[in-house]
Parts: sequence; C-alpha cells; structure tokens
Amino acid sequence: MPPAIVILTGAGISKESGIDTFRDKDGLWTKVDLEEVATLDAWHRDKKKVLDFYNETRKQFRAAHVEPNAAHRALAHLEQQYLGEVTIVTQNIDTLHEAAGSRHVLHMHGRDGEVRCMNCDKVDESDIDLTPQSVCPHCGSVGELRPNIVWFGEMPQHMDEIHAALERCGLFLSIGTSGEVYPAAGFVLHVRRRAARARTVELNLEATGNQPLFHEHIYGPATEVVPRYVERVLAGRWQY
Ligand code: NAD
Ligand code: ZN
Repeated sequence: MPPAIVILTGAGISKESGIDTFRDKDGLWTKVDLEEVATLDAWHRDKKKVLDFYNETRKQFRAAHVEPNAAHRALAHLEQQYLGEVTIVTQNIDTLHEAAGSRHVLHMHGRDGEVRCMNCDKVDESDIDLTPQSVCPHCGSVGELRPNIVWFGEMPQHMDEIHAALERCGLFLSIGTSGEVYPAAGFVLHVRRRAARARTVELNLEATGNQPLFHEHIYGPATEVVPRYVERVLAGRWQY
C-alpha cells in the first residue's frame, strides 16, 4: 500500500474561486473586528451582530460564480486515483472540496450549511439565515441556534481523527494556509515529530513562518501548482 497522504488546506485554496482569504486586504474579514463576530463572548453580547455577519459570509460562498477551482478538482482526482489513503483536513468552512468530489474531508473549523443548538447540542443541515428569534426544532429553545462553525477560543472539531491521520501519514501537504492559526499551524511540527519518515511539502502563494519545517516548497497560485504536484504524486515522483 502506498503511504497515506494528509492534505491541510486553508483559505488560499478557495481564493481563486472568488472567496476572500482571512488576510485579504479588502476582504470581508478585515472589515470586522473578530472579537465582535467570531467568539463565544461576542455571541452572548450581541447575537444579532454575530448572526448577521455569518449570514453575509454565507452569501459570498453561495454567489453564483463561486465553484470549485482546478486545485480542489485536482485533490478530488488524487483521492479517486491514488491507491493509498487520502485525507483532506480543511480549515475552510466553504464546501468546495465536497463540490469538487472529495469524499474524505474533515472540517476542523466546522462547515457552512450546518446549525447547532447551544441548548441541546443537536446539529442539523440548514441553509436558512439565522436570527435571534430562530427556534430549535428539537428542544424548542428560542435564540440558541448558531452556525456550526468553530469560533476563536473554541475547540476545533475532529481533532482525534486528525492527529491519528497525521501520525500515520507518509506525505503531508499544506496548501493555501498562512500557518498562523493554531492548532492547524502546528500540524507540520506534529508530523515531523510523530511521523518522522514523512515528507512535508508547502504549496502556497508565498513562504510562511513554517517554511523551515517543510522539506519542499512550491510557490504559486493553487490552481497552477496543485494540479502539477498531484500529477507528480500519481506518477510516483514525490519522494525527491
Ligand atoms: P489565511 O488567510 O491566514 O492565509 C491564506 C494563505 O493563502 C496565505 O498564506 C496566502 O499567501 C495564501 N494564498 C492566497 N491566495 C492564494 C492562491 N491563489 N493560491 C495559493 N495560496 C494562496 O488563511 P488560513 O491559513 O486558512 O487561516 C484563516 C482562518 O480563517 C481559517 O481558520 C479559516 O477557517 C478561516 N477562513 C475560511 C475561509 C473559507 O472557508 N474559504 C475564508 C477565509 C477565512
Ligand atoms: Zn435545541
């Protein structure tokens, strides 16, 4: 069996699909104070403000022109063609990996299109905009429904499964992520320590602070560098 592959993706892979990254100069995220829209405190202080922000963010994901790009499609192709295990661990809440055809995707920061009740903890698929008057279909609570995404200070999802995958991988790719948001930023170090023989490769627009921890660096737009790299892996030419 060829070595297992783990692929960490971040906002950079969805940039060429028309979704702002976190640090884009004029992007959605720089227009708001994260402390006021993306923390548990913010939610308790002003539910309407937090929900309105996510309702706006979702509009960007659902815009007619937003669709998976060549990088998402290349990773789906890799999963279909590669004989070993392929796991995508994404920090993105958009669902472009799934739209491209990837099956084994772990959304560590949650996923757009799911809502969770803060009172009874039930999670549902839902595409409607939430308001502070929304009613939980399970327990009847009013104003307890929130997007099922991870806010700053909350525990990321699927961490046990992610750590297990990191520890058995032979190839770790980091694509379109700045390496500044933990715990994802620490995954490459975890691989270097716990899967010592694994090869680590950074594919990003530019070097990140984690650069010294990668064996190989490939810089350029994801839609160009990812399909080329996937062809290399499928041809068995990734060890050098
Ligand atoms: P980030 O914005 O911090 O970093 C994005 C990285 O992608 C940068 O290093 C940048 O150089 C690179 N990049 C930009 N354009 C690229 C391209 N065309 N090709 C390749 N690389 C490119 O994003 P992050 O590291 O993912 O962390 C941000 C946090 O914000 C995450 O937790 C994520 O959940 C959230 N977020 C998600 C989305 C989404 O779901 N699409 C969008 C914005 C932010
Ligand atoms: Zn409930």
